[in-house]
Amino acid sequence: MVILTDFDGTITTKDVIDGILERFAGPEWLEIENQWLSGEIGSKECLRRQMALITVEASALEQVLNSVEIDSTFASFLQYCFAQEIPLRIVSDNFEWFIRHILRNNLPEHTHILDRTPIFANEVKLLGTRLEFSFPHSGPECTHGCATCKASLVKKIRANDKDEIIFIGDGMSDRFGAREADLVFAKSTLLEYCRKEGIEAIPFDQFSKIQGWVESKRKVPAPSWQPRKS
Ligand SMILES: [Mg+2]
Ligand SMILES: [Zn+2]
Repeated sequence: MVILTDFDGTITTKDVIDGILERFAGPEWLEIENQWLSGEIGSKECLRRQMALITVEASALEQVLNSVEIDSTFASFLQYCFAQEIPLRIVSDNFEWFIRHILRNNLPEHTHILDRTPIFANEVKLLGTRLEFSFPHSGPECTHGCATCKASLVKKIRANDKDEIIFIGDGMSDRFGAREADLVFAKSTLLEYCRKEGIEAIPFDQFSKIQGWVESKRKVPAPSWQPRKS
């Protein structure tokens, strides 16, 4: 199996990009967000327009990133996957720089695993007080206008690894990825979406539940034997 997980609201306890927009962009960002939620625009156009509203100093941005907390059971899940050689990849509409910063900050003792964990996300640089960004994983075959096309990533990873794809997420940016995956763990808005659309999904609140599920799947059945009567 290959495990793909969303980042914001799934690994982190709150949505990081929403937090940054709340602090450093004008209130117009919410109007753009609603256009995306209603399906009027894709996440790429949404992010492009929202990011353009931001003016921020490097130190203030870092302060926000340093305040982000993650699921307290994610460290154990990360270690478990690494020890069991289960490929774990992060797929996100956030930015790789922010994600790596937050993970290193929360899990300083696991940097050797984090450095080996692939992250498929958008790219960003701070030039002065403006953010410059690009979308290396928007996927040429994406029909949804995604910034990071999770559906294309599921298909690509499955084609390469020929494996069962487990997808973990919490929100609307996960809907197309969840549609393509073999098995979905969902919470919050994604869980509601899956229920409405008839996509089979296992509800979860923390990574410990997913770890328990994976452990039970991989457990080799104990050999059945009976003591011989002589
Ligand atoms: Mg999310
Ligand atoms: Zn897409």
